Amino acid sequence: MIPYATQWVDDEDIAAVAQALKTAYLTQGPLVDEFEAKTAGYCGAKYAVAFNSGTSALHGACFAAGLKAGDEAITSPITFVATANAVLYCGAKPLFADIDPQTINLDPTAVAGQITAKTKAILPVHYAGQPCEMAALSKLAKERNLTVIEDACHALGADYQGKKIGAGQYSDMTILSFHAVKHITTGEGGMVLTNNKDFYEKLKTFRTHGITRDPKLLAEKDPGPWVYEMQALGFNYRLTDFQSALGMSQLKKLDQFVARRREIVARYQAAFKNVPGLATIQGKTDCRSAWHIYPIMVKGNRRKIFDALRAKGLGVNVHYIPVYWQPYYSQLGYQKGLCPRAEAYYESTITLPLYPKMSDQEVETVITVVKECVNGR
Ligand SMILES: *Cc1c(COP(=O)(O)O)cnc(C)c1O
Repeated sequence: MIPYATQWVDDEDIAAVAQALKTAYLTQGPLVDEFEAKTAGYCGAKYAVAFNSGTSALHGACFAAGLKAGDEAITSPITFVATANAVLYCGAKPLFADIDPQTINLDPTAVAGQITAKTKAILPVHYAGQPCEMAALSKLAKERNLTVIEDACHALGADYQGKKIGAGQYSDMTILSFHAVKHITTGEGGMVLTNNKDFYEKLKTFRTHGITRDPKLLAEKDPGPWVYEMQALGFNYRLTDFQSALGMSQLKKLDQFVARRREIVARYQAAFKNVPGLATIQGKTDCRSAWHIYPIMVKGNRRKIFDALRAKGLGVNVHYIPVYWQPYYSQLGYQKGLCPRAEAYYESTITLPLYPKMSDQEVETVITVVKECVNGR
């Protein structure tokens, strides 16, 4: 079976983790700071705060943005459930806006249509690694004084208008995930990038129980050296030093990983260009996708084609079931039909294998098998 995605951990990565395990720091230590600085440097952000998952990073960002009961935040239904769940964790309500059927990203016009007096944030998701229309979304947000939180869990290494996603040109915070299938991995892990010092400080205390030891921030006058204060309800969302060692070792190879992903996708795009019954995502010209996944859209019976691909050894997958279709969301009152373009996309899509370690031979096998199955052979 050719999987839809898999990590690439080599001997250098293993040596980096082994070395970290021999130090005094088994939990959060100096390597976390180093990993944050290197990732912020790579993306062109001022600050970075590491978390133990992309999900906890999203939660941190929603907390820092001040989301609370009575507030609303707008996101895409074509995302992993974690994006919308982070809004729920804060007691706020996620609203879903429909997608642009060419890019499968949030349609800024649809977002504008969902803004109410309660809206506090927009969470654009760079689906498959393709940057959203950030300039348009940022314009909307500025007019209404909304916080923009980019879910860039698919888009580490992508460019938008000549800058890396994460530089925060058009947003307040950017979320990364280091889950095994993402561009670089720490096993589980995540990060928030920001240029805003206030968000940065909130994120730092949020990931460690809402506790601060900074004498400048303590309420107690003349505190003893042991004093810490819990000033907000935070969590234990810390990343470890040995995970950070893996992350830094992986970060060295990120450009190579992204280049290989783009090379494979260029081959796919050329091969699938004129295949009847098969369409691919159309990118915008002002950005470059980092290609986390490679979804196609099929016209025929999706289930039949999917089963045929699996039967022929392709570990295909589907990204994503519209979030509000999930039973938990139905129970909250969300109904089918809310975002018709997102639903039509979901019903037609299949994610093909894509990962940097894929051989040219495997890429050709995928192409041959897809052409056969899409045409019912
Ligand atoms: C992976 C992912 C997340 C969550 O990241 P974890 O590190 O698995 O918690 C959130 N949003 C999107 C779009 C993702 O792909």
